[in-house]
Amino acid sequence: MTITQTKPGAGVEFRALRRTFGSTVALDGLDLTVAPGELLALLGPSGCGKTTALRMVAGFDHPDSGQVLVDGVDIVGVPADKRDAGMVFQSYSLFPNLSARDNVAFGPRIRKVDAATRRARADELLAMVGLPTQGDRFPHQLSGGQQQRVALARALALQPRVLLLDEPLSALDAQVRLTLREEISRLQKNLGITTIFVTHDQEEALSMADRVAVLRDGRLEQCATPIELYHHPATAFVAEFVGTMNRIPGRLTGSGRVEVAGQQLPVIGELPGDAAVDVLIRPEDVRVSAAADGPARVVTVSFLGPTTRLFVELPGGVGIKADLATRQASGLGPGAAVQVELAEHPVRVSASR
Ligand code: ATP
Repeated sequence: MTITQTKPGAGVEFRALRRTFGSTVALDGLDLTVAPGELLALLGPSGCGKTTALRMVAGFDHPDSGQVLVDGVDIVGVPADKRDAGMVFQSYSLFPNLSARDNVAFGPRIRKVDAATRRARADELLAMVGLPTQGDRFPHQLSGGQQQRVALARALALQPRVLLLDEPLSALDAQVRLTLREEISRLQKNLGITTIFVTHDQEEALSMADRVAVLRDGRLEQCATPIELYHHPATAFVAEFVGTMNRIPGRLTGSGRVEVAGQQLPVIGELPGDAAVDVLIRPEDVRVSAAADGPARVVTVSFLGPTTRLFVELPGGVGIKADLATRQASGLGPGAAVQVELAEHPVRVSASR
């Protein structure tokens, strides 16, 4: 059997999953469905329960209550080594005394796959993760990125139906991380393996995942495609957690609009009772133009390549970030008097802090 003839990816479902550690509630009734063959990112602030949820699928931890269903079957009582899941951790966690090939062949050896078959499969997997000639090397002879490739090959060696990745790229330097992001996405799609990827890096989640599940305090806040999440966040928490967001004071006018920075904009989502609110606005929705009599001032300018981020002070001392195409930012230096205009999109408001 070659590794390209994988078993179909499994559907995974968390149902009302709860896990406490003493007085800490790690998972507080998590409900989430992962489709077969999907790459789902679990995203959220530190301590929101991402790793705990992943460990439940691997069988390294058990819920106080709730279910983990794989293809509709509750696997909570099934021991880890009987589950069809492969896991890659943040730290490389390879066996230091085994070669790359023997690391990959470890699982098949435990399962009594014969030596020739497991060697052939290990070499095939190593080639697939871009290490065709490194099979004889030991972990200390490999770079961090190469070690994570071996860990990935090892996780795939038993042809699992679910691949679990726990911040696998966070220990790597930026360039290697970018390359491996692309390679993991490609591999995942080629194999069709259901993959749950834990990360606290929103850029990683948005660029790799089919859908992103944002967790907060052990519960699901929103699960949607990256584009949906970015443009139509279900809550103020998601709006602020995903992408950069300005939070500036405004005042509800009573007609479904909010007055903010001298403009009136339509409001989406729920309205907090108070008239004084914070308005959430993306930096790309803030337009800045030079105007000798403009009431706002550029404070700082950060060149980011194709875009330039300005930090601008509005009348009254409120700061706002604005992302401009770099060409449009030429001539706007610190101290420049400017006019600020907010795009006429509906905006989300939140109780003022
Ligand atoms: P991070 O991004 O920091 O890794 P996370 O979202 O993966 O965070 P978890 O590791 O799932 O969060 O932890 C959720 C909560 O449960 C945290 O408050 C954590 O301290 C707690 N926790 C997790 N494992 C244990 C444990 N074995 N014993 C006690 N508390 C734990």
